[in-house]
Amino acid sequence: MADFTLYIAKKWLEEYAATLEEQKAYLTDLDSSIGDADHGTNMARGMSAVVEPEALNQGDLGALFKKVGMTLVSKVGGTSGPLYGTFFLRAAKEAGTATELDAAGLAAALRAGLTGVLDRGKAQLEDKTMVDALSPALDALDAALAAGQDLARAAAQAAVAGREGAEATTPMLAKKGRASYLGERSIGHQDPGATSSQYLLEALAKALA
Ligand code: ADP
Ligand code: MG
Repeated sequence: MADFTLYIAKKWLEEYAATLEEQKAYLTDLDSSIGDADHGTNMARGMSAVVEPEALNQGDLGALFKKVGMTLVSKVGGTSGPLYGTFFLRAAKEAGTATELDAAGLAAALRAGLTGVLDRGKAQLEDKTMVDALSPALDALDAALAAGQDLARAAAQAAVAGREGAEATTPMLAKKGRASYLGERSIGHQDPGATSSQYLLEALAKALA
């Protein structure tokens, strides 16, 4: 059964681009506390290029996600551009030439994306990065699907776990990226990349609702 179609994938990306546009000042503000104040503007610029009609006009999920990944690598820059780029490039490989995925297929594509982020960024849980939102969210997605829930409900639970994961980064000491240069002073601020990852999961839940 088609749970996740090319149409829903485009809706997901459009939702994400719109959220980043809305939240870019907030994200940049988070990044000004523990980074260099560019995360919101970088991500919003990247995703606005992703949702250009000619970029979205792809024939299958693999081609679409590959285009997303390459666009994010070239337009976002910094640390997060290559990491989000890798997320989508790995998801593209997993999706291949499919034009739709069932729930397990989507979960596998997202999991491949997270594995790519881990391979490339070498972050562990509680290093105060995007992994702290993505990992619990994908675990919640798998658990909900294993418990027999449909994809829309499972994605809603993943979004909640992603938000909780992002919020849980506040007391963490950053061990990766620019925030790690601050040492103890990174404590007490929510991680910007975990927050943009929370939005990615929330956008997916919206697109599937
Ligand atoms: P930069 O730090 O180069 O300015 P951004 O501001 O766009 O890049 O992104 C910062 C975010 O990147 C951090 O909030 C964190 O979530 C994420 N990040 C940094 N290093 C890593 C890593 N090694 N693995 C995963 N995520 C990381
Ligand atoms: Mg930054």
